Amino acid sequence: MKKKLVSACFAGIHCRYDGKHNRVEQIQELIKRGEAVPVCPEQLGGLSTPRKPAEIVGGDGHDVLDGKAKVVTVDGEDVTEAFVRGAYEALRVAQMLGVEEAILKEKSPSCGNCIVYDGTFQGVKKAGQGVTAALLKRHGINVVSEEEWKQES
Ligand code: SF4
Repeated sequence: MKKKLVSACFAGIHCRYDGKHNRVEQIQELIKRGEAVPVCPEQLGGLSTPRKPAEIVGGDGHDVLDGKAKVVTVDGEDVTEAFVRGAYEALRVAQMLGVEEAILKEKSPSCGNCIVYDGTFQGVKKAGQGVTAALLKRHGINVVSEEEWKQES
């Protein structure tokens, strides 16, 4: 069976921007059985944990990859380069493992699959993919959110 790539915060790893995690027991079980590998694109991109929250301004992850939108922190720092670097590092892991499916954390500016925040830091959501989700999709990897995966399985 092909391994899946999963957001590392699902594994109970404290890699979120606030130093917390988003543990999902069923996803943790996949990892324990050797069926999934956890990655955190933001850490792979060189960002520290904890770190300032960031949102995509001017579009979604696809627009970031196309150079039409940016990722900025709540303080206004441009962290686009780190987000793109992390996405390519996650893709490198996925390709090394022959991954065909990724289960990624909804609403994250890296991992979100259907929804991201709108760049105003007001808790407003919009339709769109995070940077890593967009890059994986462009390389033929089927990306699902944790909710979509739970419904499927
Ligand atoms: Fe989780 Fe992805 Fe955010 Fe890392 S970048 S903390 S894996 S949602």
